Amino acid sequence: MEYTEDTEVVKQWAPLIMDGRKKNEQIAATRMDLGTDVNFGSLTRDMFNHLKALPNVSLNFNHEIRDLKKNKDGNWIIKVKDLETKEKRKRVAKFVFIGAGGGSLPLLEKSDIPEGKGFGGFPVSGQWLKCTNEEIIKQHHAKVYGKAAVGAPPMSVPHLDTRMINGKQALLFGPYAGFSTKFLKNGSFLDLPKSIKFNNIRPMLSAGLQNLDLTKYLIEQVRQSPEDRLEALKEYLPTAQLKDWELEYAGQRVQVIKKDEKKGGILEFGTEVVSAGDGSIAALLGASPGASTAVSIMIELLDRCFKEDLTTEEWQAKMKEMIPTYGKELANDAKLCKETRTRTSRILEIEKA
Ligand SMILES: Cc1cc2nc3c(=O)[nH]c(=O)nc-3n(C[C@H](O)[C@H](O)[C@H](O)COP(=O)(O)OP(=O)(O)OC[C@H]3O[C@@H](n4cnc5c(N)ncnc54)[C@H](O)[C@@H]3O)c2cc1C
Repeated sequence: MEYTEDTEVVKQWAPLIMDGRKKNEQIAATRMDLGTDVNFGSLTRDMFNHLKALPNVSLNFNHEIRDLKKNKDGNWIIKVKDLETKEKRKRVAKFVFIGAGGGSLPLLEKSDIPEGKGFGGFPVSGQWLKCTNEEIIKQHHAKVYGKAAVGAPPMSVPHLDTRMINGKQALLFGPYAGFSTKFLKNGSFLDLPKSIKFNNIRPMLSAGLQNLDLTKYLIEQVRQSPEDRLEALKEYLPTAQLKDWELEYAGQRVQVIKKDEKKGGILEFGTEVVSAGDGSIAALLGASPGASTAVSIMIELLDRCFKEDLTTEEWQAKMKEMIPTYGKELANDAKLCKETRTRTSRILEIEKA
């Protein structure tokens, strides 16, 4: 990493953010050359295509899980609706993983496992300004991250972001937060009220009372006019003009609220894997569970729900084949860290390592 307080150096790294800035303005930046975009949408589609081609794997798209219940024999009975044909079916499963984004909490509540009691969710939506001017897009080649405003949740760190979307360079700025009672982008306004149960009402109320900063931040964000949003953008791009940017709704996050002995309830900004004591079901809750943290979450999940299998030679060999550094501490091994970065950069065809 390189650190500088020299405006000329920052100008070389990201010229647009220095354009139009006052000469005496103090500025500091840290730069890391290594890194790349990952389009998790394409990655998911590629993985699904691979899975579809495997024998003994069946994938169902456009199916909704309506209910799930544990049978006396320990298996789970899942009620599914085909959203195209409207046909309803039942499926039996030995193990269930609930990875349904904002839909995870309602499904966890339906599973009725004791470990799932006391959890609640608080929805925060995300919006972005997307640049529409090709000339500006061409001039910025970096992901410039700042700091979250006081009282703002950590995932609201503003960034001016070059992204390659389906091979085309784009420039985004955000996120701006919004409020909706929906748990999924195309969910229902009743999602939040319907998620409130007897066992989570106290944690939810306590978390609300302790996070007035967040409430204030969200109210301010929701009330923002296009000019207010432009002002925020101008902190990063002083020459920005409203006509070159359009607002896009990006998605919905559901913050976890959980029971706390001392405080009644706390609002969490991270990810929470909730699993049953017998390891037969696990749910992934949280504001940013799925993308960049997906692999480490899944390793934790295997450790919780497939503990015995994971100790077998076969599973260990498979894990090491998939993740060569599995079980090793990269943070304490500079040589291995460098080798891994070089290997990853070679595979991903990133020039510098
Ligand atoms: C504005 C914004 C910016 C972000 N930026 C980043 C970033 O830069 N890096 C990063 O790592 N992460 C980022 N995230 C977070 C990341 O997008 C999510 O963590 C990730 O998409 C979660 O993946 P998921 O598969 O767990 O859930 P989702 O992507 O929400 O998918 C859940 C799926 O489950 C389906 N579903 C729900 N209920 C049911 C049901 N009952 N039956 C069947 N299907 C159901 C939904 O329809 C949906 O298709 C961002 C999120 C937002 C909102």
